[in-house]
Amino acid sequence: MKKYYVTTPIYYVNDAPHIGSTYTTLAADIIARYYREKLGKDNVFFLTGTDEHGQKIAESAKKNNQTPIEFADSIVPKFKEAWKLLNINYDYFIRTTDPRHEKIASDLLQKLHDKGYIYPGTYEGPYCVGCERYYKESELLNNRCPLHPDKDVSYQKERNYFFKLKEVVENEVLPKIKNSDYKILPEIRKNEVLARIEQGVEDISISREGVTWGIPLPWDKNQTCYVWVEALMNYYSATRFLENKEIFWPADLHLMAKDILWFHAVIWEAILIAAEIELPKTIFAHGFFTRDGQKMSKSLGNVITPQELVDKYGVDGSRYLLISAVAFGTDGDISLEAFDQKYNADLANGLGNLVSRVTKLAEKSDFEFEIGNKNHFDKNVAKHIENYRFDEALKLIWQKISDLDKKTNEIEPWKLEGKDLRSFLQESILTIRHIAYNLQSFMPQTAEKILDDFKGPKIKSVEPLFPRI
Ligand SMILES: [Zn+2]
Repeated sequence: MKKYYVTTPIYYVNDAPHIGSTYTTLAADIIARYYREKLGKDNVFFLTGTDEHGQKIAESAKKNNQTPIEFADSIVPKFKEAWKLLNINYDYFIRTTDPRHEKIASDLLQKLHDKGYIYPGTYEGPYCVGCERYYKESELLNNRCPLHPDKDVSYQKERNYFFKLKEVVENEVLPKIKNSDYKILPEIRKNEVLARIEQGVEDISISREGVTWGIPLPWDKNQTCYVWVEALMNYYSATRFLENKEIFWPADLHLMAKDILWFHAVIWEAILIAAEIELPKTIFAHGFFTRDGQKMSKSLGNVITPQELVDKYGVDGSRYLLISAVAFGTDGDISLEAFDQKYNADLANGLGNLVSRVTKLAEKSDFEFEIGNKNHFDKNVAKHIENYRFDEALKLIWQKISDLDKKTNEIEPWKLEGKDLRSFLQESILTIRHIAYNLQSFMPQTAEKILDDFKGPKIKSVEPLFPRI
């Protein structure tokens, strides 16, 4: 049986949904919708969720006079609302505080321990609470975490358990990456991962002694599992504790931003190999957005929220602008001015205008039209979606829109009548239905509306799909 399993990272509840997490989740939604249409909806599983353990969450909860779980409970709805707002149709929302996840993660840890991949040791070094991880001295910038330059790192020394990452990476992970036993995409990211492995890999600490907000190690309850290690296990645990989801493992696609690629492309595989579990097929890391050439951050006050986008461009307008903003996989700059222009050009003038022109002519003609046989994906659009080139798929669809627009200008159907007018309109209607069908994973509501407007036999003129900005 053909199946498709796509995941987003589980988002840390210390942060509200922002454009980065929105972008990843939207891309996963597009892929999931495409495969539901292609393979049938029961053969696709799209998992997202939240990562809720660790010291940082415990500290944020304390600041808010809440228990960690109360704090997590208060943030989870923000993610669910944001995804609902953007019409993201995930199949399951996993939380790492779910006891069913905790049980499976704990069993996995025990398995690694039993197989001799875990040993006790002491860890000493600079630790960033913001990242929940130790750094090497050489990784610090001005003695501070490269990702949290406004906070001091703390020097910590503690008894930990270590995972034999070095051995597994050198013996198993590296050859598998080289043989493409699983894919790391885009290619440039795969090369970065290989280069980093070649610089040397060290064993990693997988537990924390002082942190109580986490999953206790089954063989030493004084330690909790390092939050990142346990979070990765969600992808697997969901397929074990949910009913009828076992067939979905291994994942077909883990999607994420490039900053967490190492965890997904190397550490996660090493854990799975050690536990003798099948590996995911593809790991895809997309790039970062800047806004007007600047990094987006709360302190700069230039973050863009999903709500702002939807208020301005509507649900499908936002989905279109975000996913077509850059070649999927690369970094890129966005600006609301550029979004305004693109919205007007591609959506108000392009797609919206075409639909409105053709419906008007069709209504006026008073003919009855056929809607053709079952629709299908253009093979090049399908190829681009399956290769995660959403921007290219959209370019092809917009080429079809502009071709029909040009043809309409050349033929001047408002001057035609009778058989000529009917045949032009009939052909245009089939083309527009084909365009809508191909757009459905990107702009589901718009596609549905267009297919509904053009369902014949009589066609009525419609309100503009995308009012100009
Ligand atoms: Zn940090």
